[in-house]
Amino acid sequence: MIPRSDRGFTREKAVEKGYDKKHAAFFDRLIDDFPGYRFILGTKFKFRPPKTIVIGPPEPFSQLLVLHEVGHAICKHKSFKMDVRRLKMENQAWEEARKLAVRYKVPVDEDLIQDQLDTYRDWLHQKSRCPDCGLTRFQTPDGQYHCPRCEGF
Ligand SMILES: [Zn+2]
Ligand SMILES: [Zn+2]
Repeated sequence: MIPRSDRGFTREKAVEKGYDKKHAAFFDRLIDDFPGYRFILGTKFKFRPPKTIVIGPPEPFSQLLVLHEVGHAICKHKSFKMDVRRLKMENQAWEEARKLAVRYKVPVDEDLIQDQLDTYRDWLHQKSRCPDCGLTRFQTPDGQYHCPRCEGF
């Protein structure tokens, strides 16, 4: 458990960053409910393994986005490298966020979730295309991509 004074967040700081009192109180409650994590205010919503959740600037879905980052923390995600596992991790974090949203009565915006997941899906799709012929490649367990056409499979 991390002492409250070391956890980097105060309502005053949140209000300084432009959050209203309702949001500041929500973050405060989250911090009380998850004493094992540090919450800091930053420029982007982000989970920094192993214990730090960065609260980005105010935006329409701030609450849902912070729950997503708490989801990463709950799932104990470590590596945020962009690979196939990343999409799975993002899905897991959203699953946790959905559960937390019920608990905290935060509206879940499925469009936002799908948009966010799409960035990883698009990226994976992009990555799986053969740079030489454009055909969709497949990945072997070592993480390497192979083109069935160019490599003559
Ligand atoms: Zn994420
Ligand atoms: Zn090819």
